[in-house]
Order: sequence, then structure tokens, then C-alpha cells
Amino acid sequence: MLLFSALAVLCLLPLLILAAEDYYKLLGLDRDADDRQIKKAYRNLSKKFHPDKNPNDESAQKKFVDIAEAYDVLIDPEMRKVYNQHGHEGVKQKQAGGGQGSGHNPFDLFNSFFGGGGRFQHGQRKGQNMEVRIQVPLRNFYTGADHEFKVEKQAICEKCEGSGSEDGQRDTCHKCNGQGMVIQKQMLAPGIFQQMQMQCDVCGGKGSTVKHKCKVCGGARVVRAEEKYELAVEKGMPNGVRATYENEADESPDFLAGDLVVHLLQEEPKLAGAEKDRTDGTFFRRKDHSLFWREVVSLREAWMGDWTRNLTHLDGHVVRLSRKRGQVVQPGTIEVVEGEGMPIWQHEDGPEYGNLHVEYVVVLPDQMESGQEKEFWTVWEKWRKKKGVDLRKDLGRPEHDEL
Ligand SMILES: [Zn+2]
Ligand SMILES: [Zn+2]
Repeated sequence: MLLFSALAVLCLLPLLILAAEDYYKLLGLDRDADDRQIKKAYRNLSKKFHPDKNPNDESAQKKFVDIAEAYDVLIDPEMRKVYNQHGHEGVKQKQAGGGQGSGHNPFDLFNSFFGGGGRFQHGQRKGQNMEVRIQVPLRNFYTGADHEFKVEKQAICEKCEGSGSEDGQRDTCHKCNGQGMVIQKQMLAPGIFQQMQMQCDVCGGKGSTVKHKCKVCGGARVVRAEEKYELAVEKGMPNGVRATYENEADESPDFLAGDLVVHLLQEEPKLAGAEKDRTDGTFFRRKDHSLFWREVVSLREAWMGDWTRNLTHLDGHVVRLSRKRGQVVQPGTIEVVEGEGMPIWQHEDGPEYGNLHVEYVVVLPDQMESGQEKEFWTVWEKWRKKKGVDLRKDLGRPEHDEL
């Protein structure tokens, strides 16, 4: 007997731990969530975990009850305060002290949100997904950034909680007299009728209609609303990556909201006139982990060396390119600078970077000052006379073209 009760206590332990799950976490909310967010979280989660939708799944059923409990506490400003300060214990004491029960019956609560006797309406579909494109500069893909964006969508009217009614009063439907169904006669052939029972289109099968329409939504139960979202652009995320915000598409009292799918794309650099000389990385080009950069050098620099360039990278750090005197840069040469490419997304052992590919473009002067031209000419003449007119040898190039 003793053994049995010890076992029973052991079995209860995990349950007690589960029961104490943080209410905010349970509803997937931040601690500063407002009422609208709390209601929305409840609306989505209670549909998802409704026992009718999850037969034979005890964990879903428990979750359905827990969600209702969390909602009841967080939506009540006084209880929420108690919970924030004293946690689950505080809430229990307060409920016991005030002679209150522990909130709504979860099915009644569900009913007050959705109607239908606390039952999950079968065939209740999930709404369509919504797709949006977000464009951020390449810089944000390099450094990572929190990007805020707004989406205009259909939202449940907050004023009437999606009931369409100003005061909750309802009239018996005049068309179906409260039956929710109407008989429709259809003529199949002259004199031959078929009777069909159909859902009443006036009340949508509910049997009653709203007495006084909500003044905000005009009885439509939904409104157009703009909602803010945050997207964490992670270092090195690929161009075109998708992020899914579950149940954040158009809302309706009649269905579970679909998902909001965000396509994250790289913004084209803005080539507005004066900005053409900018060195903040606008002109980097990306391919996967690699970055590409085109650097222009003068004939003197390409040939004689002795130059440096400070390339401002996407996060502002400087990459120094240089050649010592006598180091030649052939036109079109690609220099690979290791570790100065894009960060590799979700790299396991800390940040790892791809390479930067610098292509050198050599620009010859269109014209020279006459003095300068004469001096160059003299130098060339001197060397031509000395060594003959073999152009290849003249230029110090090898016998065969390099491939
Ligand atoms: Zn009706
Ligand atoms: Zn309304």
C-alpha cells in the first residue's frame, strides 16, 4: 500500500511540472502582450488544440484546458498583475481567497469566442496563406538586423470580438424561424419539383441574427487592419529565404487563419546620382557565400604598383588592398580575399565567412598633358632603339599569351 502511494506521487510529479508552464509561454506571448494579442493567441491555439480536432490525443486536450486557464488569468488585469508578481501560486491563492472558481469552463470560453456550443465545427477550414515580399539591403544580410514590417489584412473586429453585434442580443432569424435550415423547391421538369433542405443564407445556419449591428464593423465581424511584425534577418541568410508566421494571415471568426509567409529578398542598390561614389558596400554583389567587388586602378598603379585602397565593407570595417612598388596587376585579374565574403548562415561553430573576389579593371588615360606625353614618348623611343621593335619583348611580355 505504501509502495503504491509512493508510486502515485511519482506519477503525479511530471503532471505538476507540466501544469506550471508559464502562461505567456503557453500562449506564445511576450510579457508585455496587449489584450488583442492575448485574444488572438487564444483564438488560434484553442482551435488548434480543441479536443474535437485532436481525438485520442491527451496532450492536446490538456493543452486546450491550459490555454483557457492562461487566457482567463492574463485577460483579467488584476489576475495578470498577481500572476506577474507571484506566479501560479499567487493566482491560486487569489482565486481561493476571493471565492472565485478557477475561471471559465474551457468549453464555455471557446463557445464565447466561436459560438457553436463549445464544439469544434467540423469542416472548419484553415484560411488561405498570405504571401508578402520584404526587401532589405545586402548590408542587412551581412550584419544581421531586426526588420519591422507592416501587413494590411482582414482582422477580427475588436469591438464586438467577431460577433458582429453591438450588445450580444440576437433576433430569431426571420427566414428560417430559428431552424438554421430552409426548404428550397427546385423544378426539375414542368410540374416535377424536388425539395431540398439547405442552410439558411440569412443567418448562416445559426438560426438567429444580430439585433444591433456593431458600429465599428457594421456587422461584418471583421475589419481591415494593419499589423506590425518583426523579422530577424540572420547573418548570411540566403536571398529568397522564407519565414512563416503561423496563423497570421487574414482572420475570420469562421476559420482558422492561414499562415503569413514572408519572402526575404535583397533590395537592389539605389543608384541615385550623387550616391554613385558611395563606398558603404552598395556595389558589392553576392552569390551564396561569395562577395564580388570591382576595383578600378590606373595604368600607373597597375603597372608600377605602390598603391593602397581602403575598401569599406558592408558593416563599415575596412579591407585594405595594396601593391608594393613593382607589383603588376594585369587587367581582369581576380584577387581572392579570404574570409571577407558573406557570413555562412547558421554555421555551427561560430561565424564563418566566404571569400571576397576583387576584379581589377585597368583604365588607361584618354589623354596626357603634352609635356607628360613627350616624356613618355622619349622613354619608349629610347627602349625601342635599344632593343629593336619586337613588341612582345618590348613590353616585357612572355612569348606566349597567358590563358
Ligand atoms: Zn436563418
Ligand atoms: Zn464589430
